[in-house]
Amino acid sequence: MLVYIAGSGAMGCRFGYQLSKTDNEVILLDNWEEHIEAIRSQGLKVTGDVEETVQLPIMRPLEATREADLIILLTKADQLPKMLQDIKGIIGKKTKVLSLLNGLGHATTMRRYVPDSSIMVGVTIWLAGLKGPGQAHLKGTGSIFLQHMQGDRESVASIVEMFNQAGLNATYDDNVIESIWRKACVNGVMNPTCTILDCTIGELFGTEAGLNLVQNIFNEFIAVAKAEAGSIDETGIWKYIMDMAKDAATHYPSMHQDLVQNKRKTEIDYLNGAVVFKGRRVGIPTPYCQMVTDMIHAKEALLGLR
Ligand code: NAD
Repeated sequence: MLVYIAGSGAMGCRFGYQLSKTDNEVILLDNWEEHIEAIRSQGLKVTGDVEETVQLPIMRPLEATREADLIILLTKADQLPKMLQDIKGIIGKKTKVLSLLNGLGHATTMRRYVPDSSIMVGVTIWLAGLKGPGQAHLKGTGSIFLQHMQGDRESVASIVEMFNQAGLNATYDDNVIESIWRKACVNGVMNPTCTILDCTIGELFGTEAGLNLVQNIFNEFIAVAKAEAGSIDETGIWKYIMDMAKDAATHYPSMHQDLVQNKRKTEIDYLNGAVVFKGRRVGIPTPYCQMVTDMIHAKEALLGLR
């Protein structure tokens, strides 16, 4: 298979690195000049659970010309429309396009550029970081849940198999929308709160008021998820959040890393902001999600990011 990784930052490098271990052709797509230069001149350096340098082709999206078998989308959420526009030339009849971004609403964005028969949506709990251009830091294990937009499991079986050959632990999920909501809910309760309060996950869950905030945001996510996706395992998602709060107690969530530590715009509009938007459409009030979205927007504005 010819596989392009559209957005080869932290997660794109993880996927590129692991897929390079299979007998498929993998090409990284990115437009970050120093990153392209570093990977072309020295290879992709991987540290963390393994120490290795691999040679992987990398190019800007508009330089790619060969029709893809698979394109894995791994930009930040607000970068997705531009990426989809730029990769139109490599999407043909046989191409499948898979979104593994965090957050809600990406299938709707994809449908503006890609036919339904080509769209796959998914969610991943793998983690990845970058130490600098061309230097990926990869630790821990994870998994992928994915589904074909039209439910055509057979047409994507070879893709699931390829991910598993690469050790990426993929499962075809007939109800991936619930898995996407579960991850969005985890991110939605921890990310903006820890970012606004400048605290770790353990510190947030360790206070009565923090837990109250978490519970109220959770309730809004579940109410809107039920209206949109039908059956949602509310008890299971709450347990997942509480387990994660224990396991990752000393961590700052990714939004804190983006905004507070690296002064980067966040994905809030695709988490709590999306819940506000969807809630409005179905008549469900979401005041807690609205408040944290406004606060994150304000913080972004104070940092000159919007
Ligand atoms: P990142 O910022 O490290 O990588 C995104 C890359 O996309 C950047 O290198 C950027 O240059 C590139 N890009 C964006 N628009 C482009 C365009 N039009 N043309 C070419 N290149 C373009 O982000 P990340 O941490 O890898 O996250 C990607 C997605 O995966 C996000 O939705 C994130 O929430 C999700 N995610 C990340 C992790 C993690 O541990 N990093 C874990 C799970 C999910």
